[in-house]
Order: sequence, then C-alpha cells, then structure tokens
Amino acid sequence: MIYKKKWSKSLTEVAILTLYVTLINYLKSIQKRWDMANSVSSKFAMCKESMWHYAQNLCKGHKAADLLILMLDTWLSENLPVAFNEELVNEVASLLKGQSWVQSAEVMQATLDKNLIDLIRADDIATMLYWIKRPLEHGEFTTTRLIQTKVQECFVRVATATYINIKQCIVVAATAASNVNVNRSARGTSALVENLPKVDDDIMNCDEQGPHIFSSNKSLSVLNAVLDSLDLYQSAIKPNEMLSANIALSVLKTIRNESRGANYGVIPRCGQPCPMCGCPCTKGIDHVSSSENDEIPHDTYHQPSGLSGTFWSISNELVGKNCVQCTIDDDTIKLNDDKKFPYKEFNKAFPSWAVPTDQDRLPLREYIFAQYQDELADLYNKPKCPSIPHEYSHDIDDIARRIDRMLIKCNVY
Ligand SMILES: [Zn+2]
Ligand SMILES: [Zn+2]
Repeated sequence: MIYKKKWSKSLTEVAILTLYVTLINYLKSIQKRWDMANSVSSKFAMCKESMWHYAQNLCKGHKAADLLILMLDTWLSENLPVAFNEELVNEVASLLKGQSWVQSAEVMQATLDKNLIDLIRADDIATMLYWIKRPLEHGEFTTTRLIQTKVQECFVRVATATYINIKQCIVVAATAASNVNVNRSARGTSALVENLPKVDDDIMNCDEQGPHIFSSNKSLSVLNAVLDSLDLYQSAIKPNEMLSANIALSVLKTIRNESRGANYGVIPRCGQPCPMCGCPCTKGIDHVSSSENDEIPHDTYHQPSGLSGTFWSISNELVGKNCVQCTIDDDTIKLNDDKKFPYKEFNKAFPSWAVPTDQDRLPLREYIFAQYQDELADLYNKPKCPSIPHEYSHDIDDIARRIDRMLIKCNVY
C-alpha cells in the first residue's frame, strides 16, 4: 500500500539531497584513494628519503662522479631488498598456485591434521586443542608455514637471479653512459632507473671527468663503485626466519587476492568454522556466504561437536556426535537467544550454512575427542561426554601413516 502513495515534495527533495550527498562522499573517497597513490605530494613523500640523502651529500661537498656514486649507493641500499622481496613473492606465489594443498579441501584438511599429530607427539595437548577451537587461525598458521618452506627453498636461487639481473643492468647502463659525449651521468642513471634524482644539472654532471669513469679499469670508476655497493648489499640478503615469515604472509595475500573472482587456478579454502562443531568450511575462499538466492552456502566435513565446546542443554555434557549424525538423529539446536531449530533446519538456524550431509568422517578428530576428554572438560568447564562412540577408538599411527601418504603423494612435503 505504501509504495503506491505519491511522495510529497519535501520527501523528494530529501531523497535527491541524500543521493547527492552519498554520491559526493563516494566520489571524494575515490579521489582520496587515487591521491594517496598518485598525487604530487605522495610522490614527493616517496622520494623524501633519497632527496634527504642527496641534500646531505651536497652539504658535505660531494659533487660530479663522487656524488653520483653516493646516490647510486643509496639507491641500491634502499631498492635491492625491495626488488628481491617482490621477486621472491611473485616466484613463490606462481609456484604454489597449482599445489594441491592450495586447491584441494581434502589435502588442506590433511595438512591441518598433520600439525595436530605433531603436537600430540610432542605432548603439547593445550596447543593442539587451542588450534582445534580456532580453525581459521590454524589454517593460516599451517598455510604460512608451508609457504615458508617454499620461500626457503627458492631464497638462494631468486637472490642470485636478482643479483645477476641487476648487475647486468648496471653494466649496460655504464656502457650507455661511456658511449655518449655529454650528460653522461643522466644517460647512465636513466638507463638504470627512473626514480633516481634527475642528474642533468651541473652538480652531478661528470662530463669533465671523461667517459672512462664508467669503465672498470680506472681508479675512479662509477661502474666499480656501484658493483661494490651491489655486492655489499647483496651479502646482507640472507635467509632468516623473520624475513621468510614476512614473505610467506605476502605470498599468502597474493594468492588470496588473485583467487578472488577467478574461475580456475588458485582457490584457497574459505575456512569459516561450522557454528556447531567448529570444522572449517571447505568451499573455495571466494564462495558467497549466504544461502539466499542461488549463492553457495558454507559447507564442510563435521567433527565431534564437543571438540569446540558444544554441549547438551540439559546435562551440559560435551556433545560426542558430529553435525551430520545430529541431523540424522533429528537433534535440536538451541541458540544463545533460546530459539530452537531442528538440525534438519541447520540452514535456518545459520542462514549462511548448508544442512550437514557430508558423511566423510575425520578419524583424527574422533581420536582426539575420545582420548582427551579430561582436557576438553577442563578447557570448556563442562562434564565429559559419558558415551564416546566405540568407532572413535582409532589407531593414531594408522591415521598418521594415511595422512603422510596423502601429503607425499600430493607433493606437500
Ligand atoms: Zn559442524
Ligand atoms: Zn565457506
């Protein structure tokens, strides 16, 4: 009835004004984002460091070839590590795109379970239960560790390739500079990079010092000095835990960004925890998280719900069944606001989730639930599950062997 009524003039004015303000704010935010990356002041900010070094060197009386050598040295010290990092991130990201643990939910699950088995064998039960409760973080931790291994494998190769590449560029730029009669500094630096200070002024002009300063057999040699700087900064690029961890995070971000909207290739897992049992969603990271329209809801294998602290509402005991079994047995979900839904209406209780149907069981999760009741009861401050299903008594060595076989077959290790 309401939509058939004609709007009053004042309401129309309010609507137009609201639209106007919204559009202006939206356009302003786009302009602001563009300015942050492209405005003159942003570009100045990016060059602030090198301009500062340039000014300091001028104040110290450096000029001509001497000044050029110092500026190239500063440029290398700042840019060599950045170039190496970018190269390594791209190299590792493109190597990993086709890896099964990035693409397959089953293999990803196995990598998580492998980590839990390692913790059980190290008798670190608290950490093992901590990760089970936080599947998103556990997925990120495990994935980053796998990427880190790949980063370490590629480190020396990429560092050497980057070094050889830059060295070649320096030699080519020096040759270009020694072959011209005027503005040799400008010719040399523009052949090398674009973001060095402009050197076509008198201060850094080394025309008077002759073309030989760009060759390697003279005492004052720009080429030798720059190659020495390159060796010096290259020697500082060594594999270390902190650097590998940071690069691994950048690789993970790159893989995830590239996967968004892609129809094939890299599809890491979504990882949202099931609201009842805490198992991570196995759909691709970019699947849409709503069951409205024809979008794909979250779905996963399911584990014994008590593993993430779910308990029966009257006895408070930890729940031993997984969500699929609860659906088959027509159990009831009680939400925090006391609303109740049968498990068969899981997608109504949790609108972004599918009704649990995946019958694949997770033997390691069942083993942990059966073995660590005391720890789980302590952790969640609830009574233990009084009747552990007998099929949960797995052999952990069997489980570990199966997981190892799969991970080796899929080249994860
Ligand atoms: Zn579940
Ligand atoms: Zn999902």
